[in-house]
Amino acid sequence: MITGKTKVAAVIGWPVEHSLSPAIHNAAFAAAGLDYVYIPLAVPPGALAAAVAGLRAAGFVGINATLPHKVAIVPCLDALDRSAELIGAVNTVVFADGRAIGHNTDLAGFVNSLSAAGVAIAGRRTVLLGAGGAARAVAWGFLEHGAAAVTVGARDAAKAAAFAATFPAGAVTGCGWPGEAFAAALGDCDILVNCTPLGMHPRSNEEVPLDWAALNPGAAVCDLIYTPPLTTFLARARERGHLTVGGAGMLIEQGAAAYTLWTGVEAPREAMRAALDKGLGK
Ligand code: NAP
Repeated sequence: MITGKTKVAAVIGWPVEHSLSPAIHNAAFAAAGLDYVYIPLAVPPGALAAAVAGLRAAGFVGINATLPHKVAIVPCLDALDRSAELIGAVNTVVFADGRAIGHNTDLAGFVNSLSAAGVAIAGRRTVLLGAGGAARAVAWGFLEHGAAAVTVGARDAAKAAAFAATFPAGAVTGCGWPGEAFAAALGDCDILVNCTPLGMHPRSNEEVPLDWAALNPGAAVCDLIYTPPLTTFLARARERGHLTVGGAGMLIEQGAAAYTLWTGVEAPREAMRAALDKGLGK
């Protein structure tokens, strides 16, 4: 039952009705017996600053920010933690002691999803497809956890180079995809990650245009997409015998990290996973 003592968290997005986060977090709070509730709020871009100020004034414990607010929310906050500082975007805000602190739990979410799947990062050579916002979290996750190489391929070589230039010198290599340098990186690759929306519902038949023959046969293959759970990209990888990791683990793990920031306790991941599966119609 919601009472005057209930702590409130929210996700703000525009649109927000597709978000599975309310189902995942409310299931987690219920499973843990915590007096918290999590609500979706549709906040148009022009109302972002007023909404953040209002939620802080109303005593919310925190918020998740989803598209299109992840970068625009930064000036509305008092400080950023290291992950948000590195990525330049925020997906989780903690309101505490009169301050609003921005975090980016996508980094830990991705890294923890690999670790749960038994994929080690330290010393591994990695390749990312796409140079957008999620790729920044993945690239920083690899760098922070000791990857030996991070190569980012983008269909627009200039975008790949501009992406690489935002990291410390030499840390990330940007290549045109497809291209010779990119094919060479695929041959050496231990972990390949699709950071594009290619193959996401409702365009789930869309193929990722990858030269599979060029890829190291021992590479683990990951997709950030979680709808559908088994993308065409991951299905191709499985056919070729690669270990595969889908995007649902990252979604759960980034949510679990936000949950811990707000509550101070470990998240009940099984309850979160069951709510996600139900939300995805599994
Ligand atoms: P984004 O910022 O829009 O970046 C998308 C990237 O994909 C861009 O580099 C874009 O290149 C590239 N791309 C798009 N269509 C392409 C095509 N036909 N061929 C080659 N490259 C193409 O998106 P994002 O926020 O990074 O999200 C990327 C994906 O990750 C989405 O599917 C999202 O749902 C998923 N995601 C999952 C989680 C999770 O928790 N599992 C978290 C975050 C994101 P251009 O710049 O040339 O368009």
